[in-house]
Amino acid sequence: MKAAQFAARLARAQEAMGHAGVDALLLSLGADMPWLTGYVAMPLERLTMLVVPAAGRGEPTLVVPELEAPRVVPLPEVFDLKPWAETEDPISIVTSLVDKCVGNSPTLAISDRAWAIFVLRLQATLPGARWRPASEVTAPLRAVKDEAEVEALAKASAAADRVADALLAGEIALVGRSERDVSVEITQRLLAEGNEKANFAIVGSGPNSASPHHAPGERTIGPGEAVVCDFGGTLAGYCSDITRTVLTGPPPGELRRIYEVVEEAQAVGVRAAQVGELCSAVDDAARRVITEAGYGPYFVHRTGHGIGLEEHEDPYIVAGNSEVLVPGHAFSVEPGVYVPGRYGVRIEDIVVATAAGPRALNVADHALTVLDA
Ligand code: ZN
Ligand code: ZN
Ligand code: ZN
Repeated sequence: MKAAQFAARLARAQEAMGHAGVDALLLSLGADMPWLTGYVAMPLERLTMLVVPAAGRGEPTLVVPELEAPRVVPLPEVFDLKPWAETEDPISIVTSLVDKCVGNSPTLAISDRAWAIFVLRLQATLPGARWRPASEVTAPLRAVKDEAEVEALAKASAAADRVADALLAGEIALVGRSERDVSVEITQRLLAEGNEKANFAIVGSGPNSASPHHAPGERTIGPGEAVVCDFGGTLAGYCSDITRTVLTGPPPGELRRIYEVVEEAQAVGVRAAQVGELCSAVDDAARRVITEAGYGPYFVHRTGHGIGLEEHEDPYIVAGNSEVLVPGHAFSVEPGVYVPGRYGVRIEDIVVATAAGPRALNVADHALTVLDA
């Protein structure tokens, strides 16, 4: 990433602050600060905070613990660096920056993921401020990926696809192993494919496949079961997220039927992800297939979520979301059917809305895959 790209993002953020009536952004943990500066704060008790005054009201300043300052790649044209020494009080540094730039009754937008302890202290030292979540300014901007971000997401998805391909080819042994063992192997494969981090590897087998966010445990995977594998990593800062459901032997009739319904719902959801559509319409398109097949009550979650620097971000593909898709929106399409106590199926790809139509970043096979036990 070049300084000019960060500077352009900063300009867009300041423009959005103007529209939202926000005098300063106070960014701490979460992806807003890396999106604007490339710097990821350590989630520790020492405060890191980027203070971004509205356009023309002062320089953005990154307040960072002195011992972590060497990790910051300086971008003097984007932000000033203010390291604070071990015995200094970072809250008073942020407070005086705010006072100096935007006065004592500002509207401040603070990171959704800032620690409560820092928010409470800042509220005490800035009693005249009004407080808003930073996502009101940043989420709509971050949701629309530029070309470089789409390519980063495509690379991350390709790495996840290679792990999915290994799963579908039977190269990851399932039967006779615990879910946890398989989850560890998927994690290792994500790292071997170039991810700097493996973020999660859900493996739910048999009845556990009916729990969408199952925590892989000691259960031994048996023959003739559905195994939902949902995993993702971070590659060059951008996240992947893919789900494939494989079968460890010929499925009972209803499970085959459910698989076909989910496969169809997923394909219909992807096709519906056209520029100009509502996010809710994509959810509705996928859900309708499942509802019409009689499994509506078993599709217990939204159809998808945005993805980028974070695994889950705007836009959410969910009933009631009247956001309109524009080129660069990137999100998952991941319908599922979960019959409690029996089995579940989910299929998930990351999709980008483009002027030429939906572009699926994951291309690993969707067809029902029965692995030999
Ligand atoms: Zn999930
Ligand atoms: Zn997933
Ligand atoms: Zn997902």
